[in-house]
Amino acid sequence: MSASASWFEIVDPVFGHYVLFNAPLKKLAEGFDWAEGPVWFGDQQCLLFSDIPNDRILRYGEDGLTTFRQPANFANGHTRDRQGRLITCEHGTRRVTRTEWDGTITVIADSYQGKRLNSPNDVVVSRDGAIWFTDPHYGIVSDYEGFKAEAELSCSVYRVDPDGTIQAVITDMACPNGLAFSPDESRLYVADTGRAFHADPQHILSFDMGTGRPTRGSIFHKIEPGCADGIRVDNEGNLWSSARDGVHCIAPDGHLMGKIFVPEVVSNLCFGGRAKHRLFITATTGLYSVVLNRRGAQWP
Ligand code: MG
Repeated sequence: MSASASWFEIVDPVFGHYVLFNAPLKKLAEGFDWAEGPVWFGDQQCLLFSDIPNDRILRYGEDGLTTFRQPANFANGHTRDRQGRLITCEHGTRRVTRTEWDGTITVIADSYQGKRLNSPNDVVVSRDGAIWFTDPHYGIVSDYEGFKAEAELSCSVYRVDPDGTIQAVITDMACPNGLAFSPDESRLYVADTGRAFHADPQHILSFDMGTGRPTRGSIFHKIEPGCADGIRVDNEGNLWSSARDGVHCIAPDGHLMGKIFVPEVVSNLCFGGRAKHRLFITATTGLYSVVLNRRGAQWP
């Protein structure tokens, strides 16, 4: 078999073991304006994701595409907490919420030091049950993905303890966006999409988590072309990042392993499926998936 199949590119030969030559990139659904925030529900064999400008959360499963929630407060990123509950970033209400098992909504965070958050973008939950989220201003710069408003806070990364205490843990990034922990939680990766408004940055930062809080941030990888939005990690610590031309796989030492080409700008991705070996990709107007010879590490 050739390594030049149209949907991927091998940069490091090891990446050839990550892709399956006979597993195609498939378009599962279309018709969105900016698909984002995929999260896998293995217990229900379905994926939830946002279509932000159309103010809805969609559900893709064996029975096809259905609407999970609309209106959805211009929801963006999602994850699940350690009890499996849906955690959602909302632009419209400028908050992070938890959907309880009975369907009621609990507010996790909507302000910091008496000021409203900007527009929470993406979220992860660590093993200790803390909720970590990014708060750039994309949802308040126009009325397209939320409601235009003045920012009250700088763009930061926050941690919410299980007891509800909120703390700004990264305050010196331009536009923190996607975030993910390494499998052993010794590192926190955060994508900076400041490039959308400035010449730079467009990189993914790596933070040391040895103290339990992110310190000593350094540039881990610079995405080209485009910039990293959503990111996920596989169980060997490779980072899978969104990019303008698809999904890039980056080794733990920061070098590019290979690419999966997607015909639309990719916003985010997550592992799911029977063995967490299926990569779901939200990309502008479409939802795609490809089966890999890798397994996702992220919770859930
Ligand atoms: Mg994002």
